[in-house]
Amino acid sequence: MRSLDDYHGIVSDRQIYEIYQKARGLTGKHVLCINSTYQGGGVAELLSSVVPLMNDLGVDMGWRILHGNPDFFTITKKFHNALQGAEVNLTEMKKSLYVRASQDFKVYTHIDHDCVVIHDPQPLPLVRCCRKQQPWIWRCHIDLTDPNKELWDYLKQYLLRYDLMLVSNTRYLREDLPVEQQVVHPALDPLSPKNIEIPEDLAERYLEKFGIPTDKPLITQISRFDTWKDPEGVLDVYQEVEKEMDCRLVLCGSMATDDPEGQEIFERVERKAAQLSTNGDVIVINSENNILVNALQRASDVVVQKSLREGFGLTVTEALWKGRPVVASAVGGIGLQITDGENGFLVDPQDIKGCADRVVQILQDDGLARRLGKNAKRTVREKFLITRLLRDWLDVLNDVIL
Ligand code: UDP
Repeated sequence: MRSLDDYHGIVSDRQIYEIYQKARGLTGKHVLCINSTYQGGGVAELLSSVVPLMNDLGVDMGWRILHGNPDFFTITKKFHNALQGAEVNLTEMKKSLYVRASQDFKVYTHIDHDCVVIHDPQPLPLVRCCRKQQPWIWRCHIDLTDPNKELWDYLKQYLLRYDLMLVSNTRYLREDLPVEQQVVHPALDPLSPKNIEIPEDLAERYLEKFGIPTDKPLITQISRFDTWKDPEGVLDVYQEVEKEMDCRLVLCGSMATDDPEGQEIFERVERKAAQLSTNGDVIVINSENNILVNALQRASDVVVQKSLREGFGLTVTEALWKGRPVVASAVGGIGLQITDGENGFLVDPQDIKGCADRVVQILQDDGLARRLGKNAKRTVREKFLITRLLRDWLDVLNDVIL
């Protein structure tokens, strides 16, 4: 288990001292976080660092998972998609299955904590199933730029019971919701297995184990197999880049247990990749492996994040932290992290050629790649490290609990 002391040398002593100060009044307070998966995706990634560090600070923070059957996760994935703008057929049956998971969860869980933090829409109705005796926070990690109105109106009946809603971007603040709202940007943990510096020979071993040669320029996208991440669009980009120069593409994704669409999209991507390249230069990997992600990001000559919507995009933060040049869509939370031409490139998500041109530009200009990478690392150090996120969380908890 990591402790805040371990971050000496990565962030300033003043930052560490401020965190201890902010935690003082919260010693022994019980905070319960609830989401719907222990692994896969950014929410689990964030919780796996924030929860142990909060406990190290004396805040008794717990993390529980809302269980659900396959029907439940099919529905909540549709809800997730609709919150990002897709259509949804909102039937009474779907509503009832959605609420049932929270009702069941309540039977097995006693909630007498000082604060409850619900992540994303899956456990949102739980607030209505409990006798509410503490502040409840809804932490939404989704790109709420343009939510489906019908679903948003339906979810409001639960949202109105919350004391605070936290989003990742000012653009997601909702004027039509009277609940207090704040923006908290996610962050990465520089000491997690995914982000810590690893010896070169370890990285090479992992790349070899997963069949990734390093004799050609390497382009990667590391993301769940999800239409919002547009892995098929990345294949189109690769096709354009390959006309200009010999290179390799790795699409690496893992399956989140709360995302039932992953397998089908993975298979579709594999088929398209096989049609596109017969020489093995397009590699599609389905594996949950932090060291592999770490090694892949470090070995990449360009990291692409061709999302169509993106709540924040921790994969972008992770690549920036490793000093990699990133070419990413100008959507959702990505624009909070990348300033075009300074620490990476922002592109129109529909513009395949534009994205490919930026990738080629970086691959052909070492000086540019180095400059972007250096600025990228600085951005994360200044704005997106876990210590800043701890501070923000402590401010929120001090506000709502004390
Ligand atoms: N991730 C991973 N293995 C993969 C793909 C993704 O560990 O094969 C991790 C990735 O490194 C990041 C998180 O899953 O930490 C994805 O977070 P992000 O905010 O980018 O997107 P989300 O999946 O939450 O929509």
